[in-house]
Amino acid sequence: MARVIFDTDRCKGCGLCVTACPKKIVHINNDVVNAIGYNPAEVTEMDKCIGCAMCATMCPDCVIEVRR
Ligand code: SF4
Ligand code: SF4
Repeated sequence: MARVIFDTDRCKGCGLCVTACPKKIVHINNDVVNAIGYNPAEVTEMDKCIGCAMCATMCPDCVIEVRR
């Protein structure tokens, strides 16, 4: 199973990774505020991840790492 790792405290909550994910499993977590004051992105159903790395490719700040 692929694993998606976020450097959460560097996320700006722009949502580009959310739109990029073909499985629609990346979401902005509005219950969390990170170190730089944004609601960060997270993967909610990791078991559905296909490891395509579209989320990581889209992130302008290289916050996401995908391990297959
Ligand atoms: S690797 Fe692909 S399927 Fe997995 S969370 Fe990122 S965009 Fe979605
Ligand atoms: S694209 Fe990067 S900075 Fe934007 S919400 Fe996703 S992880 Fe955060």
